[in-house]
Amino acid sequence: MKPFNATPPLIDADALVKKDQSRLIHPHLPGDSTERVVVVEGDGCRLRDAHGREYLDATGGLMLAHVGHGRRELIEAAAGQMSQLAYYSSFHEFTNAPSIHLAERLIELAPAPMERVYFTSGGAEAVDAALRMARLYHHRRGEPERTWVLARNFGYHGITYGGAAATGFPMFHQGFGPMMPNVRHLTPPMPFHPELYGGEDPTEFCLRELRETIEEIGAERIAVMIGEPILGVAGVVEPPADYWPRVRELLSAHGILLILDEVITSFGRIGRWFAAEALGVAPDFVVTAKGLTSGYVPLGALLVADRVADVVTRDEGFVGGYTYSGHPTACAVALENLAIVEREDLLTAATDVGGHLGARLRRLEELPIVGQVRQVGMMIAVELTRDPDTGEPLSAEWVPPLVRERAGVIVRNNPNAVLLSPPLVMSHDEADRVAAAVADVLTERATRSTRRKAL
Ligand code: PMP
Repeated sequence: MKPFNATPPLIDADALVKKDQSRLIHPHLPGDSTERVVVVEGDGCRLRDAHGREYLDATGGLMLAHVGHGRRELIEAAAGQMSQLAYYSSFHEFTNAPSIHLAERLIELAPAPMERVYFTSGGAEAVDAALRMARLYHHRRGEPERTWVLARNFGYHGITYGGAAATGFPMFHQGFGPMMPNVRHLTPPMPFHPELYGGEDPTEFCLRELRETIEEIGAERIAVMIGEPILGVAGVVEPPADYWPRVRELLSAHGILLILDEVITSFGRIGRWFAAEALGVAPDFVVTAKGLTSGYVPLGALLVADRVADVVTRDEGFVGGYTYSGHPTACAVALENLAIVEREDLLTAATDVGGHLGARLRRLEELPIVGQVRQVGMMIAVELTRDPDTGEPLSAEWVPPLVRERAGVIVRNNPNAVLLSPPLVMSHDEADRVAAAVADVLTERATRSTRRKAL
């Protein structure tokens, strides 16, 4: 492992923070917050900030960085392509070799027969493209009234107009209305929250709700359903094995298309190239981004099944594209990134180190403040229960700053779970450090509450 620059670059960290506070709008940060971490360098799973402090990255940025930070191969792939042709449009008849090779590679890896790839700059743009294609598919086949989109509560699909509408967390809708119309959110199966299903089996509840919704809206008005195969931001929620096959069967019976949003779960994160491989369903669209380039450059890719691709490319073709669709540099980096995932067998690594980290964290289920630890490959959620002092659901918001402060380990949270998604190259030793850091903070909090109770 290379040491970080012995002499930190000449950066006045405090001045940068001050400028940041007055100049930048950060996602999800109150304007009066003075907290900033100016990240300046990365190597493997390690990061260093402008104050010279080191961290262990247990979130891979925002659930990506599959091959780790600072990889020479990716820097060279970008530099090589940029020195030849950094960018050109892929509108109309223009194209470039890296995007063609990448499309070919994605089709090879695809979980179900897919024919074509549509490139975007990220996940939410690919979600929007899938929604547009789904509607266009029906329109061109003589069913223009099929515009409704079925999505799910607790699903996250980004914050573009369509992505945000499909996202099933109210905070992304409030104050931003009116949202894209004709979207209905359904309940996903979350067996550890039986209160959502009024005593019914979660899968049966969800299937009944889907059947009733199709009946209420009318199948002839529904274009598509979108869902994450494993809920990510909601806290690593795997569905019961029969859920997706039964959903697919019902949708197919009514001519409704299926989009699987694999922005988090693709390219090794869960120990497979795609989650759909394990679901036993063939979707019409697979949405990917994040791990496609490990985040080195922005890129998303929408994989489209044969029968849909045939329709949306006919006549005048698919109307609409992004300036950066098929960006040659981004595609060249993605090709090399996927080659590293394969060469270093990071699918096996994700299962191995993820399993190790998950087992260490699962011990925390003994704590009264920890409900369930859920792990699939390198996606882990430590869900908190109730605050023993107040009986209220225990927010997980306080955990990441404390773990970072105490142990220099970066984790994230959703409202009530601590989320971990390290680079797939994390070592067992690093995973042990991550587990110990989380355990330390949660154990202390649980002990404090127990002691207070005993008094
Ligand atoms: N879908 C899922 C499942 C995601 O997790 C995300 C990002 N967290 C998105 C879509 C949106 O991707 P992007 O932020 O690249 O637009």
